[in-house]
This record gives sequence, structure tokens and C-alpha cells, in this order.
Amino acid sequence: MTELTIAAIRAHPLRATLATVQRTSQGDWPALEVVAVEVETECGLTGIGECLARRGAAGYARFIEAALAPKLIGRSAHDRRALWSAMRGTLTGRTGGMLIEAIAGIDIALWDLAGQAAKQPIWRLLGGAGRRSVVAYASSLNWGDNARAEQELASALARGFRQVKVKIGKPADAAIRRVRMLRRLAGDKVMLAVDANWIYDADEALAVGKALADEGYGWFEEPIHPDDHAGYRHLRRHLPVRLAAGESDFTAADSADLVEDRTLGLIQPDVARSGGITETWRIAEHAALHHVAYAPHVGWSGGICSAASVHLAAAADSFLTFECMVFDNPLRQALTVPVLGDVGRLEADGTLAVPDTPGLGVTLDREALARHLIRD
Ligand SMILES: [Mg+2]
Repeated sequence: MTELTIAAIRAHPLRATLATVQRTSQGDWPALEVVAVEVETECGLTGIGECLARRGAAGYARFIEAALAPKLIGRSAHDRRALWSAMRGTLTGRTGGMLIEAIAGIDIALWDLAGQAAKQPIWRLLGGAGRRSVVAYASSLNWGDNARAEQELASALARGFRQVKVKIGKPADAAIRRVRMLRRLAGDKVMLAVDANWIYDADEALAVGKALADEGYGWFEEPIHPDDHAGYRHLRRHLPVRLAAGESDFTAADSADLVEDRTLGLIQPDVARSGGITETWRIAEHAALHHVAYAPHVGWSGGICSAASVHLAAAADSFLTFECMVFDNPLRQALTVPVLGDVGRLEADGTLAVPDTPGLGVTLDREALARHLIRD
């Protein structure tokens, strides 16, 4: 076994301005930030990871280098669980939030190293489900006006997608009109789903959810605040539509109860937020144990998150569908070579190929890294 003694950890805060502002129920996003992480070992192998840090990426990077890296230097990168626990112990109390997102960046890099050392792709280290491609859905139609939604739907279908997610927001009656319009336009053969980014209260969510059930939508994502577990149970009792959540979670414990009682029919952790591959795999395995579907969240994360998500999708027992982002984001499309899980690699049948190269199967594009580095 190749020994992987950690020699150095570098964290690069990155920012990109988007060519097209993205709009959800929570507002406009003209720019995005992430942190790319490199874990270098004494044998010369370097792993890469990414942590979700939509705002304040420079602060995350400083925290990773100042607080997490010193706990790991000199230790074996093979001991991923021990290192995860050591990092989590950096802060005491019931820690979540930024700490777990920061851990994600390092943890993904540790898995990349393990795969490189073993000369195996990460999906195979996770068990290997024998899946050489994964079905993908287009994400997402913006919560803009009808004309924009219609144009974005047509564009997604023209690209080969048979599954499409739609952002919805307030007022609820406008959202109901939107989902009915899109079903009419898409026809019955396209799987449509919606994402409310937890803008509704329970009564609004019930009204929208009934329309979704009528129109045969595949799932209702984050209808209400992610902390409102009683609210999710209330919706589950009254709505014959699959409820989805999980992108706002940090650890498996956060939604374990909603998975165990099947309130959620789909769990969607983001590997760059939910503690990296180590903790996200725990979430996926827990979902499989309870026959709850799993779909990786990619959202506005970058290319390393997207690559790691392809490996998780390829390996997870209860994998349902891959979130393939359709808007231009340089942090997703220029940061790695090659680019995995991107719309540019979509096959004619609406699937994405799974790589068979070792580790994550991607390397950092140094020019893109320099171009997007936050220097202020
Ligand atoms: Mg979402």
C-alpha cells in the first residue's frame, strides 16, 4: 500500500461572475464562490477537494489552513474517518455549518488520494455498483417570467434531457399556474420536479403540492424550512407527492428521522457541504437502508463537487437521478480537466458517463484557478 503522509494543505478561495444571473425564490445570484482544496502527500500524490462557500470563501480558506490543516499534517491520508473526527473536534459543541463544509473540502481530497494510490475510481472504492452511466435531470428552470421558463424548458429538452427541475416561488398561485403551464408544454413523458428553496409556509406548500400531485410531478423539493420537521410530516400526511430535501443538511443526523419514517422520499445531500464523501456516503447508505431515494445535490457548486457527485451517483444503491446544471458557471466548467457531470457531456439518451480513471478522475486547471482566485 502506498503510504500517504500528509505534507501540506492549501485552500484556494474562488469567485466567478455568472453570465446569466440565476433566480430562485430566495433572490438573485449574480456571482458564486467556492473553495478548492489541495492535500499534498510526501510521496508526491496530491488530492483535490471542494467546499461549498457561497459567500465568504476567503474566510473558509483561512479557516481550513489555520485550524484544520495543522491537525492533519504528518498523519496518514488513508485514515479518513480518524481525520474526519479530528477535524470535527476542532470546534466543540453541536457543530455544523461552516465547519462541516470546510471538512468536506479536505475529505473529498483524501478520497481522491485514496483512489489515486489504489489506481481505482472512487465509485469502486465505495463498493462499485457496476453502473457505467447515470441518468441526469436538467437543473433548473429559473423562477423568472413565463417566457423565460418556456424558453429554458425548450432548451433543456432540445439538449436531450427527459427529466427537468423547475424553480418555483411566491405567490403560491403563480407557482401553481407555472407548474400547470410547464406540464402542458412538456407533455406527459417528461419527468418534471420542482424546487421551492423553502419559501412557503405549510398552507402554501399544501396548495402547491396538490397541484403537483395533479400534474404528476416527480418530487417537491424543500417546500418549507429545512428545520421544520413537524411541518414536513404534516405535508407528508396530506400530499401524494414525493417530498425531497437534504441539500441544507450538514450531517446524516440532520434528516435521519425524516428518512427513517419515510417523510422524505428523496434525500439530496451536497457532497461539498455534507462533510465530503465520508459523511455523504453515510447519508446515502442510511437512505438505502430505509428504501429512500438518493440524488446528489450539485447546485451552484464547482467542478470538483460535480465530479465527486458522479462517483457517489455511480455507487449508491438507492441513486435516483443526477443533478446536471444547465446554466454556465466557470467554477463548474473550467476548474477541472476533464469536466465531469456537466451538460456538455450529456449523452443523447439523457445520461452521463461514469469515469474509470483513478480517484476523482479530474485535475485542477491552474489557469482557471488563478483567474478566479479571490485576492482581496
Ligand atoms: Mg434545491
